[in-house]
Amino acid sequence: MSSGPIGIFGGTFNPIHNGHLRSALELKENLGLEQVRLLPAARPPLRGLPELSAEERAELVEQAVASEPGLVCDRRELSRQGPSYTVDTLAELRAELGPARPLCLIVGTDVLERLREWHRWEDLLGFAHLVVMARPGWRAPDSGQIAAWLAEHGGGVADLQQNPAGKVMMQQLRQLPISATEIRDMIARGQSPRYLLPDAVWDTIQRLGAYGARVEEQEQHGIC
Ligand code: ATP
Repeated sequence: MSSGPIGIFGGTFNPIHNGHLRSALELKENLGLEQVRLLPAARPPLRGLPELSAEERAELVEQAVASEPGLVCDRRELSRQGPSYTVDTLAELRAELGPARPLCLIVGTDVLERLREWHRWEDLLGFAHLVVMARPGWRAPDSGQIAAWLAEHGGGVADLQQNPAGKVMMQQLRQLPISATEIRDMIARGQSPRYLLPDAVWDTIQRLGAYGARVEEQEQHGIC
């Protein structure tokens, strides 16, 4: 059985879009990950409930990754009772995958800036590495508790591959300025979000009438 590092990319995915997908694929390739698991959150503790059900959001993630074997949808947070805390998810994955497998929790810089609001944030590195997707020009905090924590635990790609957990690293990725909020707003205004997200995902959103999509606005797939 293979023992390569596993990436864990959580989000609301309301809906999943090409910004998420491109980042997941680039991280897989840049860090030599065996797989990136996309984990839709059942009940994000820090945000309001989204309008699609968790199962529907997961279905969209499944469709988005269907043709890319290195990306998979992991539904484990959907069946959990109560809030889905990342530290619980990591503990579960660690128990399943064994003590030696490198696990990399992937987060945006927005998450790093609010990390101390996370449940048991100081325990995260006991279970996984933390990979922060940084925009060009973004500067990590240079003072305070998070800065000290980053300095103490900073590592590189080799550290991530050779150790099961415990390091933090920044990764600069191609920037696709796409947000799920913008996609929801476009759909509600009657505009097409096509090419910002996979066709299969947009087709399903229209079929479900999600985010205010109207069935009569469906675009035709023609062959030229
Ligand atoms: P919303 O607009 O509803 O806040 P979102 O597009 O930011 O949603 P989330 O599901 O909240 O999507 O994001 C999950 C993760 O993906 C977060 O770590 C976030 O920083 C990251 N992310 C969001 N948009 C992009 C993007 N365009 N490129 C790379 N990463 C992204």
